[in-house]
Amino acid sequence: MAAVQSLSILTNPAPEGNWMDEAKCKGHTNLFFPPRAERPQARARREARARRLCVACPVFDTCRDHARAHHEYGFWAGESEEDRHVAGFTVSAPIGVRARAHA
Ligand code: SF4
Repeated sequence: MAAVQSLSILTNPAPEGNWMDEAKCKGHTNLFFPPRAERPQARARREARARRLCVACPVFDTCRDHARAHHEYGFWAGESEEDRHVAGFTVSAPIGVRARAHA
């Protein structure tokens, strides 16, 4: 829910209905989007905590498909925007060294 409650959900409504109601990330927005000037070590810790929620989430596959299809920013379904960018689901301004190398 945190990840899916981002601003982008307002512009890219999920066609899958109410899968967000089952999201394990409800109320954990701070784990799924980086604060300003986040350092790489803090990002790694934050994303590891987010990933632990995702692996136990009943809507993992739908969430991943949504994030890839809509080129979402942030951490969705165990993937960072850098992971998605490197896998070809590009975003215009990704964070992360690997993603910038693929820009
Ligand atoms: S897979 Fe992760 S980001 Fe997606 S809805 Fe579930 S907990 Fe949230």
